[in-house]
Amino acid sequence: MKPAPFAYHKARSLDDALAHLAAHKDARLLAGGQSLIATLNMRLSAPTLLVDINGIAGLDRIEVKGDAIEIGALVRHAQAERSDVIAKHVPLIARAMPHIAHPAIRNRGTLGGSIAFADPAAELPACLLALGGAIVASGPNGTRAIKADDFFKGLFETALSPDEIVTALRVPMARPDSRIGFAELARRHGDYAIVGLAATARTTGEKLADVRLAYFGVGDTPVRARKAETALAEGNIDDAVGALDLSPHDDVQATAATKKHLAGVLLRRVAKQLMEAVHA
Ligand SMILES: Cc1cc2nc3c(=O)[nH]c(=O)nc-3n(C[C@H](O)[C@H](O)[C@H](O)COP(=O)(O)OP(=O)(O)OC[C@H]3O[C@@H](n4cnc5c(N)ncnc54)[C@H](O)[C@@H]3O)c2cc1C
Repeated sequence: MKPAPFAYHKARSLDDALAHLAAHKDARLLAGGQSLIATLNMRLSAPTLLVDINGIAGLDRIEVKGDAIEIGALVRHAQAERSDVIAKHVPLIARAMPHIAHPAIRNRGTLGGSIAFADPAAELPACLLALGGAIVASGPNGTRAIKADDFFKGLFETALSPDEIVTALRVPMARPDSRIGFAELARRHGDYAIVGLAATARTTGEKLADVRLAYFGVGDTPVRARKAETALAEGNIDDAVGALDLSPHDDVQATAATKKHLAGVLLRRVAKQLMEAVHA
């Protein structure tokens, strides 16, 4: 199908993009276009104006800021995949990146677009949640940071208002005692996951602490399995699997019962990674 007619504006600055969003209530931002263009072509959305943010300088930087890493919204998946800073300081994102779609899509798709689109089966929203990261957004009232825990509100729904632009993702830098785990089950490598799990923890001697288990593909948003987090910190994987408090729906990929079973399988794999992997 072809999209409904729309006007196009290439923004030259953040202020310019914000002004266009403010003036056109049904405008949509265009980043990598890898999700948006499909929704336009299928006429799932019909904005009258597309505001292209690809020409805004400075949104494609990966920077160390204190004990956090800021990843600009326009950083492409492929750029993040190749980044030494991300590999060293945010290894969870480095681990997840090759699972996102295929190289051609990763060359265009942006991290900001993926977070703003908030597909519940996507890897990055779950990684950001597992990392305890934040989304930096600019709007008519200035800039704010929204915790990932508060950002994902419902199916493709976020805490962003229509006149705000994600400018960066902010994630805490991994520490020597940080541990990460990541696993997903997909029909083919590069497909959206049937179920996936991104996790972080710290080690305190033989035990795990601050366990964060963020599932994707099991609900309307990425979901933390909080009871399982507590059980895993107490050291018992069987108890953690038994405590999995997820309520997936049936979808085109699998039934709810299959997803719940697979969530347990992934938890066992990821628990091993958390306990074994040493991030130096
Ligand atoms: C065949 C195929 C397979 C895919 N498989 C996967 C997969 O396995 N895992 C996965 O995670 N993704 C997958 N994707 C999606 C891909 O990662 C997208 O690139 C990503 O979800 C959206 O990023 P984008 O930059 O292309 O955003 P766009 O398509 O440009 O925009 C998506 C939405 O976000 C909004 N938006 C974009 N940038 C901003 C911003 N800075 N601030 C506020 N709103 C913004 C847009 O207005 C739009 O509503 C797949 C895509 C395709 C086509």
